[in-house]
Amino acid sequence: MTRLAIIVPCYNEEAVLPETARRLLALLADLQAQGEVSDDSALYFVNDGSRDRTWPLIEELAATNPQVHGIKLSRNCGHQNALLAGLFTVPGDAVISIDADLQDDPEAMRAMLAAHRGGADVVYGVRRRRTTDTFFKRFSAEGYYWLLARLGVEIVFNHADYRLLSRRAIDVLRQYRERNIFLRGIIPKLGFDSAIVHYDRSARLAGETKYPLKKMVAFALEGVTSFSVAPLRAIMWFGLCVSVLSFAGGLWTLWERLVNNVGVPGWASTLVPMFFLGGIQLLSLGVIGEYVAKIYMESKARPRYIIDREI
Ligand code: UDP
Ligand code: MG
Repeated sequence: MTRLAIIVPCYNEEAVLPETARRLLALLADLQAQGEVSDDSALYFVNDGSRDRTWPLIEELAATNPQVHGIKLSRNCGHQNALLAGLFTVPGDAVISIDADLQDDPEAMRAMLAAHRGGADVVYGVRRRRTTDTFFKRFSAEGYYWLLARLGVEIVFNHADYRLLSRRAIDVLRQYRERNIFLRGIIPKLGFDSAIVHYDRSARLAGETKYPLKKMVAFALEGVTSFSVAPLRAIMWFGLCVSVLSFAGGLWTLWERLVNNVGVPGWASTLVPMFFLGGIQLLSLGVIGEYVAKIYMESKARPRYIIDREI
């Protein structure tokens, strides 16, 4: 029988936590009653340095319920690192990660477990429709997945961090040592048999999103620069085109001067390319800087998360 661990990263989730725990415990009890998961299956809340009452709530839940465990990170390490902390500390044959806000339908876990029993080491939860997201989020997300695909990053469309991983898959994931981790891009690289489970995504149950625009943009950039050097290549190609064009322009100017005896008429043709190229150069430096910064951060190899306490 599968020993299941459900991990829930929580950052300032006091508003939804009691309801989330209630729903997940009910589901777990049902799965156990039906003999789908073992009796030592459990729920693990990873507190990612919350500033509200999230941790005391987890302590209360753990004190009253033997199936609830808590992992307290020493500070806010970020969603992805909170997930890693959970994945790498909990026991179990299969681990399912789910957000604390119940946007992802917990009932889909039944299908995930079925796929796991059928031999899949990785089961992706994929949202069927995005009707509950704002137009902006939907539009930017679709565009982003399209861009990643074009850049050659292997990614499962409309899959967030709701997934099942087998013990074997987690052990392989451990070998990916990068500090800045983008799980959605790494998991498909693990290989193994995988399956997809569709579910409807609802609106956040309570509280507000912990991914404001700024964090979302940083996360999106992370996804691109961690998996693709296409932006660096694009710069090279652009530079090459500009060089070829300006070389042709130079030849043409010489021809005009020497053969047709026409002088250069204006300064616009000097200033415009100057500013334009200046802009392109700064942009290129920025892109290269982004990758250099990445090398810098990775070379320090600092810990990705720090566990303060486990209960
Ligand atoms: N989260 C976290 N650390 C952070 C930010 C978010 O552990 O620094 C958790 C959060 O508590 C939630 C999950 O990551 O369980 C996804 O966050 P959220 O639902 O706010 O993101 P959205 O669904 O709006 O993209
Ligand atoms: Mg959410």
